[in-house]
Amino acid sequence: MRRKVIAGNWKMNMTPSEAVKLANDLKGNVANDNVDVIFCVPAIDIVPVVEAVKGTNIKIGAENMYIEEKGAYTGEISANMLVDAGVSHVIIGHSERRQLFNESDEFLNKKIKKAIEHKLIPIVCCGETLEQREEGITLTFIKDQIKAAYEGISSEDALNTIIAYEPIWAIGTGKVATTEQAEEVCASIRKNLEEIYDAKTAEEIRILYGGSVNASNAAELFAQNNIDGGLVGGASLKPEFANIVNY
Ligand code: PEP
Repeated sequence: MRRKVIAGNWKMNMTPSEAVKLANDLKGNVANDNVDVIFCVPAIDIVPVVEAVKGTNIKIGAENMYIEEKGAYTGEISANMLVDAGVSHVIIGHSERRQLFNESDEFLNKKIKKAIEHKLIPIVCCGETLEQREEGITLTFIKDQIKAAYEGISSEDALNTIIAYEPIWAIGTGKVATTEQAEEVCASIRKNLEEIYDAKTAEEIRILYGGSVNASNAAELFAQNNIDGGLVGGASLKPEFANIVNY
């Protein structure tokens, strides 16, 4: 039985003081021991938010990290820094990073490996554009993304990863995928994992849906056989996030 994960992606929102206030406002209301609750926050907010949620069920994730250990990479953050600051998860390959910062499948594969090396749980994002969906190539495109992301990663390590299926046309648009569309792709990703690894590994890896999840659509989405929770953008910054966690 896969445990549900509800992760918030704060993106580039919340100054450190705003972040602490939001964490304090949310923490009592997301105290659900039946799900993994993760706040993925901007790098500068990590240290104060880790402090603010101490003693609660909330885990802290980063939104990005770099592939090298340390050194002359001005502006970047290493896996080691994240771990030392109290981070347990890291979003890798969000479509905004793929599109706005030109992060390639090969580069993201290196990030996933580096995260695993440091025992950070990568939340590996994948998802198609509207054009790809309309062309009918969603499942093959995502299969290629998954294959590239997990290239050279053992099944044992893959078990310590989470996948987030996020159709790009549904992110921040208020246009949620239908439960059938979301379940179809998440089931297909599980098949992809079975082909790469084996049925048991595929059965255990958690696959989230992301894209305009809110308090009214969460329960139906999360009830699907292959959807193990959500990666939530906009609604993770609001009191509504508690209703999603307690769907
Ligand atoms: C996201 O950014 O990962 C996301 C799913 O955003 P939203 O929930 O706002 O669509």
